[in-house]
Amino acid sequence: MTQQQNKAIAILTSGGDAPGMNAALRSAVRTALNLKFKVYAIFEGYEGLIRGGNLIQEFNWASVGGILSLGGTAIGTARSMEFQTFEGRLKAAKNLIDRNITNLIVIGGDGSLSGANSLAKKWNQYLEKLLQEKQITPQQAHNNSQLSIVGLVGSIDNDMVNTDMTIGTDSALHRIVEAIDAINDTAASHHRTFIIEVMGRNCGYLALASALATSAEFVLIPENPPAEGWEDDMCELIQNNNMLGRNHSIIIVAEGALDQNGDRITSQYIKDVLSEKINCDARITILGHVQRGGSPSAFDRYMSTVLGYKAVNIFHDKSDNIEAEPKIVGLKNNRLNVFPLADAVKQTKAIPETLKKRDFSSVMALRGGHFEDMYEIFKIFSRALPHKDTTIPKLVNDSKKNIAVINCGWSASGMNTAVKTALRLAIHKGHNILGINNGFSGFLNREISLINNVKLEEYCANGGSFLGTNRDILDKVTFCQLANVIKEYQIDALIMIGGLSGYINVYNIYLSREQHPELKIPIICVPATINNNIPGTEFCIGADTALNTIVNAVDKIKYSSANHRRTFIVEVMGRKCGYLAMMTGLATGAEYIYLPEESLDLEDFQKDIKELNHAFANNRKIALIVRNEEANDIYDTDFLRKLYQRESKGLFDVRTSILGPLQQGGRPTVFDRITAIKLVDKAVDLIDDAFDDKNKDIKFLGLIGGKVISHDIEHFKNMVHVHNDRPKDQWWMKIRDIVKLLSSYRENN
Ligand code: ADP
Repeated sequence: MTQQQNKAIAILTSGGDAPGMNAALRSAVRTALNLKFKVYAIFEGYEGLIRGGNLIQEFNWASVGGILSLGGTAIGTARSMEFQTFEGRLKAAKNLIDRNITNLIVIGGDGSLSGANSLAKKWNQYLEKLLQEKQITPQQAHNNSQLSIVGLVGSIDNDMVNTDMTIGTDSALHRIVEAIDAINDTAASHHRTFIIEVMGRNCGYLALASALATSAEFVLIPENPPAEGWEDDMCELIQNNNMLGRNHSIIIVAEGALDQNGDRITSQYIKDVLSEKINCDARITILGHVQRGGSPSAFDRYMSTVLGYKAVNIFHDKSDNIEAEPKIVGLKNNRLNVFPLADAVKQTKAIPETLKKRDFSSVMALRGGHFEDMYEIFKIFSRALPHKDTTIPKLVNDSKKNIAVINCGWSASGMNTAVKTALRLAIHKGHNILGINNGFSGFLNREISLINNVKLEEYCANGGSFLGTNRDILDKVTFCQLANVIKEYQIDALIMIGGLSGYINVYNIYLSREQHPELKIPIICVPATINNNIPGTEFCIGADTALNTIVNAVDKIKYSSANHRRTFIVEVMGRKCGYLAMMTGLATGAEYIYLPEESLDLEDFQKDIKELNHAFANNRKIALIVRNEEANDIYDTDFLRKLYQRESKGLFDVRTSILGPLQQGGRPTVFDRITAIKLVDKAVDLIDDAFDDKNKDIKFLGLIGGKVISHDIEHFKNMVHVHNDRPKDQWWMKIRDIVKLLSSYRENN
């Protein structure tokens, strides 16, 4: 018997539901079982904790099977008036003590986490009272003298301080942007202006992120009320937009948007202003509860899984000073962040008051740097409108420069957003942007033109590459020709947005600069590839879209199995980098994941088949294996199908699915769009600086810990495994053990 065996953990979801809560529940339950805790799920939030009975159920490994892809919460949620009273919480305490539950995970918004804090703060008083009333024995009071609480923030609004994303926000953004893209299509057909109202009573995150991602013309949020006279600015923007050839406009308004006096700006008011001032008949769409529903995004599944795992480990290790006060586990800068619950909830709850006091700058500061950055970029975006020129203007003075932009590698969703960002920000800084079509071979062939940005804007919500792209790697002997093209077109700088082939071309340019001085221009590489195999960045543009496309496809494949006993082997892209395979496996609950980073031999497969046979013999209906396309040259997908089928002993049949090019398509996700915008914002800044101090550096950019980082090109070769075309440092391999732990069969535990 281990020390933990008489210890128990309970988990509840409370307040507004959010996609991803199920992933957190699944992860917490299975991690806890693995660490020999007894696990209870409390149904219907605090209401269930008060009422007890069958609303508190012991969970096993299978209790959380099949819930990873579901929206909402499998254990229900409720709002409880009674829990806000001492008597209500006393009943809750009794139910916890009766089951020896000394660890509680609460997944909910700031309200629910306040509730958790109230329970923890007065725990001694509940013990005393229950003891006095002889509802519990002294031994029980002794055994339960400590209640440890970890909160996970489940809220689509993304309104908690100290954490970058709360559970459900990314999924809500998926819903919102899908809806706005759809509205954009119809708005364009009818030359209309739409006002779209999104959730966020005190937090404008959803409005701001979706406005940036969809290039909306105007956004209204509670944290940063528009200046007096904003109505005229808005009308002018809409009119300019029409004059420049865009025939439709989108205005996004958070449901709690405020003006400088702290009064609400309603969608109806905006509509009336547009009608009165510029005779524009705008349509209002209030997105409402669609934003909360639907299957969780890949990111929400990943983040919630990691948070649930960490929460349980805090109890197990008694780390992070958990016995002193309740903690929240969140993700900040793509890293786990554990911080005191009471303080964070207090600060978050103070925001509505601060808004009422019209202290908007304090609220902006509380929202953090990422929020403020997004706001600044949005302001530039909405002012730097598309132009109508179609011929390359002659450069008249030194201050206006020609910046060329090129796509390389396979197409990745979000490349167009990156090109559009370069265009808008370069215009803002007074430069021209030249588009190079069809990668580096197009560059050599002088396929160069001024980008038709009205067309690009229309195309932007699509996948693929508007400029055209390919994987050609130039022979160094052609660099003399390339130097001539650069001179001829007066190209002063280059932004390369693409995958490894683009990086290799740029690296070779770097090596050839002494022979060809025309190549001494600033060049910035921006990572864009679905494979996520570029060094110096945690995320590449396009990888999130590909991952979500794959995850949605795998969800469907799993549902197709009906009542057959079946093992699916799904092959995903990634070349020699297992990122897509690993994250797909994590987000879909795959039993096994085969990665190129890990050597695989027949013994591994034998072990897996044995486990599968055992599971299917014990009534298992479906199993999933995710295999990276280059995991192993010999044991390919077809080999595995035959092997598993042969060895299945008739217990299950095997189907394969090679997802192929569908992984590269699709409208870019919000994350890919915003990543593209952040990276290119930095690229244009660096180029502008290079013009100023005549610094002709070549750099490559990355997103690390939520920040855009630049690296000197000379380090590129040292940061990649040359033969495997993947970075030496792969952050996501650190979660390999979590994925193994959650997905392997432990049903008999
Ligand atoms: P959310 O958690 O999504 O913010 P609510 O604000 O409705 O949702 O809170 C959910 C539940 O949490 C409430 O119905 C109540 O039971 C509990 N709760 C909220 N605030 C407190 C508090 N200060 N003390 C005790 N319980 C609270």
